[in-house]
Amino acid sequence: MGLDGREIIVAGGGIGGLAAALALRQRGAEVRVLEQAGAITEVGAGIQVSPNGLRVIEALGLGEALRARACRGRAVRLRDYRDGAEVTRLDLDRLPASQGYYFVHRADLIALLADAAREAGVTIRLLQKVAGVRPGPKPELSLANGDTVSADLVIGADGLHSVIRGALNGAAAPFFTRQVAWRTVIPNLTGHPPEAQVHMGPGQHLVSYPLRDGLSVNIVAAQEREAWAEEGWDHEDAPANLRAAFAGFGGDVPVMLNAVERVGLWGLFRHPVARHWYGDGLALLGDAAHPTLPFMAQGANMALEDAWCLASLLDTEPDTGTALSRYQERRRPRCERIVAAANGNAWKYHLRNPLIRSAAHLGLGLAGRLAPDRLIHQFDWIYGHDVTAATG
Ligand SMILES: Cc1cc2nc3c(=O)[nH]c(=O)nc-3n(C[C@H](O)[C@H](O)[C@H](O)COP(=O)(O)OP(=O)(O)OC[C@H]3O[C@@H](n4cnc5c(N)ncnc54)[C@H](O)[C@@H]3O)c2cc1C
Repeated sequence: MGLDGREIIVAGGGIGGLAAALALRQRGAEVRVLEQAGAITEVGAGIQVSPNGLRVIEALGLGEALRARACRGRAVRLRDYRDGAEVTRLDLDRLPASQGYYFVHRADLIALLADAAREAGVTIRLLQKVAGVRPGPKPELSLANGDTVSADLVIGADGLHSVIRGALNGAAAPFFTRQVAWRTVIPNLTGHPPEAQVHMGPGQHLVSYPLRDGLSVNIVAAQEREAWAEEGWDHEDAPANLRAAFAGFGGDVPVMLNAVERVGLWGLFRHPVARHWYGDGLALLGDAAHPTLPFMAQGANMALEDAWCLASLLDTEPDTGTALSRYQERRRPRCERIVAAANGNAWKYHLRNPLIRSAAHLGLGLAGRLAPDRLIHQFDWIYGHDVTAATG
C-alpha cells in the first residue's frame, strides 16, 4: 500500500476528519485522530448526503451500512410559507439510477465512520485539544494539556475555528452572515413524506426532512438577523422563540413547531474559502478550509470529497508537496463555486418583495411542470461529480 508506515495526525474527529482517517488507513498510513471533545458524538440533527458525498461513503466500503441507517430522499418540494402551497418539486428520482440522495442522523454517520476507522486500525484520542502547530518536514502540534506530538503530516479537519487554518493563513475572525438557524429533531406527526420540504417566506425559510425510518423529522429554520452576540454551534434556545419567529408560517409548520421540545440556535458565520490549503507538512479539509452556509446542504459532502481526494493523491503522488498542491488545485475552485451557490440560495428563498416573490414562484412552478429535468439537472455539476473517479 502506497502510504505504508507514513505517520499522519488528523486534528478533528468530525465527518471530514474521520473520513480522511479511514481513507488514509485503508491505504496503509498509521493514523491518529486528535479530537477535543470527550466523546465522538454529535448534536441531534440531520444531514443530507447527496450522490457526490455518497460516492465517497461507498468507496470507503460503507454504502450499505449508510443506506441501512438513512432515509432515501425522493424529492425536494418548495412551498409558500403562508399556506404551504406547492411552488415546485424537484424529483430526486430523476437523478441517474446509480445515484441516491439520503437523509441521515449526523450521530449515525459519525458513529459509522468512527467505528469503521477504529476497526481499520485508526487510533482516536479524545480530550486532545490542539492549541498550536509548527509546520515543517516533521510538523509538531502542541496540545492544550501541554503535550507535544509530531507526525509526517498533519491534517487540519478542526472545523470553523481551525488552529491549522490560522497557521497557514494568518488569524482572521469569521464574519457573521446575518443569518441564524435553529435545528431540532421532532417526532413525525405530519406523515412527512420521504422528501425535503422548504417553506419559503420573506427573510426566512424552514427545511424539514424525515430521519430514521421516517419516525423523526429534522428541522432547520433559518432567519435573517442583524446581529449576533456570540459565535457557536449549540446555544440552546427556547422553543417558544422558534415558534414566535415562524408564527406567520402555515401548512404543516405550526404542527411541526408545536412538537419542538428542545432546540439549538446557530449564528451562521463564515470565513472566506482559505487561500492556502497546505503548507510544510500541513493540509486543511472540510469546514477548516471552506465553511459554508448550509443552504446547498453541501458542507459535509464537500468534506467527504476533500477527504477522499487528499488520501488518494497522497497515495498516488510520490512527492508529498506535489500531492498537496494538486489537492488544492482540484478542490478549491469546486468548493468556492459551491459556497457561492449556497450564498445565492439564501437570497432566493428569502425574497421579501411580494411581487418579485410571486413572479419568482410562478417561474419556478412553470419550470417544475414544463422542464422538470432541467430543474434537477441544473445541479448535475454538484451531484454528478465523482471524486473517487477523478483522483483514481
Ligand atoms: C444548520 C446547518 C445545517 C447543515 N446541514 C447540512 C447538510 O444537510 N448536508 C451537509 O453536507 N452539510 C450540512 N451542514 C454543514 C456540515 O455540518 C459541516 O460542513 C460539516 O460538519 C463539516 O465537517 P468537518 O469535519 O469539516 O467539521 P466539523 O464537523 O466542525 O468537525 C470538526 C471537529 O474538530 C474538532 N475540533 C475543533 N477544534 C479542535 C481542536 N483545536 N483540537 C481538536 N479537535 C478540534 C471538533 O470538536 C469537531 O469534532 C450544515 C450546517 C449547519 C450549520
